[in-house]
Amino acid sequence: MAAVTAAGRGHSVTVLEKNEKTGKKIYITGKGRCNLTNATDTENLIKNTIRNPKFMYSAYSNFSSFDAIDFFEGLECPVKIERGNRAFPVSDHSSDIIKALNKAMKEKGVRVRYGVNVTEILTEDGRVCGVVTEAGDTIKADAVMIATGGLSYKSTGSTGDGFTFAKALGHKVTDTRPSLVGMSVKEDFVKELEGLSLKNINVTIKDGKKKLYDGFGEMLFTRNGVSGPLILTASSIAGDKIFKGGASLFIDMKPALSKEELDERIVKDFTAFHAKELKNAFDKLLPKSFIPVFVSCLGIDADKKAGNVSKADREKIVTLLKNFPLTITALKGYDEAVITKGGVSVKEINPHTMESKLVKGVYFIGEVIDVDALTGGFNLQIAWSTGHLAGMSV
Ligand SMILES: Cc1cc2nc3c(=O)[nH]c(=O)nc-3n(C[C@H](O)[C@H](O)[C@H](O)COP(=O)(O)OP(=O)(O)OC[C@H]3O[C@@H](n4cnc5c(N)ncnc54)[C@H](O)[C@@H]3O)c2cc1C
Repeated sequence: MAAVTAAGRGHSVTVLEKNEKTGKKIYITGKGRCNLTNATDTENLIKNTIRNPKFMYSAYSNFSSFDAIDFFEGLECPVKIERGNRAFPVSDHSSDIIKALNKAMKEKGVRVRYGVNVTEILTEDGRVCGVVTEAGDTIKADAVMIATGGLSYKSTGSTGDGFTFAKALGHKVTDTRPSLVGMSVKEDFVKELEGLSLKNINVTIKDGKKKLYDGFGEMLFTRNGVSGPLILTASSIAGDKIFKGGASLFIDMKPALSKEELDERIVKDFTAFHAKELKNAFDKLLPKSFIPVFVSCLGIDADKKAGNVSKADREKIVTLLKNFPLTITALKGYDEAVITKGGVSVKEINPHTMESKLVKGVYFIGEVIDVDALTGGFNLQIAWSTGHLAGMSV
């Protein structure tokens, strides 16, 4: 996006890409469909930007999500809007987004050099003057736009090189960690729940008594932990604490019901199922595969008849339904993380141009910057908006 925009303004632009092709990361976005943006206004883009949203104001205003959609549609890549304003290519193929970007580069005369691994940014008298490649070549330039991504999914080429370049140029790089990522939990029983998705539930994450996150939606059990939309969002908002040493997670299986309403519901179910054992009495309340785990966590004899369950037992059941606890031990790693949180400090980047405040002619774009957003197309929009602004400013 930056290359196309700068070339469109008459500059001579060369993209140095260490991979053998462009857009390896884009290829795997949106489960191969590429959720390229979120069709929404600047205010909502800002709302979904978690780290340094105000920094993004100029970039979003300069190139909105609707501009991104127009851009791709103008390159014969029609776009459709799905649930939650998520935008995808009509074809459902992320490769069409890559094709469109390659086509735009060709049209604007951008040169792309593949297999070129940049190892150093060169400066002279506080201005950039070129780059050095792994092969030992020096490539001269009067502007360098650093769009090297973060640290997640290294196989796509994002190996954090931009952080090294920024530090070498004197920039502060804030601590990085995986984000929009699943979590590991201590409880062994989760492996029995692998693949189970819980819908319309509430998740609360706490550090002792302090509430770090509270959200309604859907989560998923994995082999040794939890994932799914709610957990990814929670990893962005509450992840700093978890990254440093864990936290507690509580699932409210019935957020629409108060404790009293839930108790009434249980009385009704257990009256109807009075001759059944407890382990067979939750069919109407819980997903089938969750019931054995739930009953064993209750600490009540699973063979007790539902008709013999006492008021004290019911209290235990209600408490566990409203507050099912899990112990989060860690965030999953960069190899499973959608994005990297942290990056080049926004204090040293001009938000109106994306130019470094320390070295003239250096621009930062996309995930390398200490800016990130929630899922829904917002992270690619950060890349498009900052890329376009840098391309306009260079
Ligand atoms: C599995 C997955 C799914 C995702 N799905 C979505 C989604 O649907 N919607 C969304 O908005 N976001 C999604 N994201 C996030 C989004 O892909 C990234 O935020 C975005 O690609 C960042 O763009 P970027 O240009 O900053 O970096 P990248 O896309 O990571 O590109 C960096 C490029 O720089 C190259 N490079 C790095 N170092 C060097 C070097 N030293 N020399 C030469 N070249 C170098 C790399 O090879 C790479 O091509 C997803 C991420 C993952 C991992």
